[in-house]
Amino acid sequence: KIRVRYAPSPTGHLHIGNARTALFNWLFARHFGGQFIIRIEDTDQARNIADGEFSQLDNLAWLGLDWDESPANPGQYGPYRQSERLHIYQPLVQELLERGLAYKSYKTSAELEAEREAQIAAKIAPHYVYEYAGLSDEEIAAKQADFEAQGLPYVVRFRVPEENVYGWEDIVKGHVEIGASQVGGDWVIQKADGMPTYNFAVVVDDHMMEISHVLRGDDHVSNTPKQLMIYEAFGWEAPIFGHMSLIINTETGKKLSKRDETVLQFIEQYRELGYLPEAMLNFITLLGWSPKGEDEIFNKKQFVKMFDPERLSKSPAKFDNKKLEWVNNQWIKKIDENVLFDKLLNEVVKAGFVKPEELDAGKLAWWHQVFKMHQDGIAYTSQITPLVKPIFVDLTAKADLGEDALAWIDKDYVKPLLTAWVAKLEALTIFDATSIVQTIRELQNEMGVKGRDLWMPLRIAASRVNEGPNLGEVMELLGREASINNIKEFI
Ligand code: GLU
Repeated sequence: KIRVRYAPSPTGHLHIGNARTALFNWLFARHFGGQFIIRIEDTDQARNIADGEFSQLDNLAWLGLDWDESPANPGQYGPYRQSERLHIYQPLVQELLERGLAYKSYKTSAELEAEREAQIAAKIAPHYVYEYAGLSDEEIAAKQADFEAQGLPYVVRFRVPEENVYGWEDIVKGHVEIGASQVGGDWVIQKADGMPTYNFAVVVDDHMMEISHVLRGDDHVSNTPKQLMIYEAFGWEAPIFGHMSLIINTETGKKLSKRDETVLQFIEQYRELGYLPEAMLNFITLLGWSPKGEDEIFNKKQFVKMFDPERLSKSPAKFDNKKLEWVNNQWIKKIDENVLFDKLLNEVVKAGFVKPEELDAGKLAWWHQVFKMHQDGIAYTSQITPLVKPIFVDLTAKADLGEDALAWIDKDYVKPLLTAWVAKLEALTIFDATSIVQTIRELQNEMGVKGRDLWMPLRIAASRVNEGPNLGEVMELLGREASINNIKEFI
């Protein structure tokens, strides 16, 4: 039975790296006909944020993922929030204490810090030093009874079998082995507030929830030996692990980290910019995984069908923002035009260019034409706003133009050119793209100006931008009055 899970800690919003973890687990489940579970790892109470859980799930749903069990739709393995499972962890911690595999540790943080500093000064890797070293069982018991009588706070540490080596067959990395001596000594399984630590709770939950495969980020490799110690202590079978390669930001060449400000890293931010969920899902699936062949644009169904864990890459995945824009642009060209049209309309409404109640059939058709003119050129939907702004918003003339545009307009030959043009535009019986372009051809013949010298000042005067789609179409949409008024301001 295949059961996989995504186990977010609700300490933040859905990050690209987490989304990738979720996505591959989901693909794994859907491809092999297994179950995909959401478990909330919320034991770090101080770091949880109020809408963390909601926001994680909301963004996963936006990406198009679905799940079989979660806090909101529990299956038979609940509860699905770790903070509600303390009654499950505590007896297990107790069991390890009784079997002598774990112990209560009373070292204070000041003591631990002093030890750490001394180790660093002596150039040895910082590690926890067993506090009852050299004491007999009776002496240990006496010492602990004394601490307990004083009501001192304690954590529970797992007694690491230092001589052991933990190995596993990793789906991505192949055979991995890590010596127990590398985990930094006896580690905490239960914190002073009674909460289990991640490395303990994750094992209990994965076992109890019958998780068969764990796909997660490379940064968890060093946790795996700790987790294997717990599986071993309870005599439970460990799941199959797969640690997915790091994500490198191509902009900096470094590991993508939440502090890196060169790229947006939260799904929500892309959502706000108007990236399409299909495109985000497509792009993220290509982070550390590749399909056979050259094609890269696929939908969810296709990915589910062709997903093959063998093709998860060992080498770092490249997060390339330009590629993401390209993927989104491919999807913009691919999705149903009416769906795209609604999204674009939403953007211009948001920008205040039009009020929803003003949108009658005529206006809608008009907007449709505007969007058609621009849709191939945008990477994500909010890019429509600056493109249509000049058609829409009355610009206060010259002041709003950039220097480049003004330089074109200020040339000596321009005023007579614009004057002649206005006369032609006023005389047109039909004000459509073809007739408008025809007036420009006539100007070229009559005034002897051509190429950029002709088109740049005309475009800037009529539409107020240096570049854009076919000028005839822009002016047709703008209408005769607005176009001519625009031009006249420069005469
Ligand atoms: N809560 C852990 C995290 O957010 C889950 C790691 C795991 O998949 O084991 O990194």
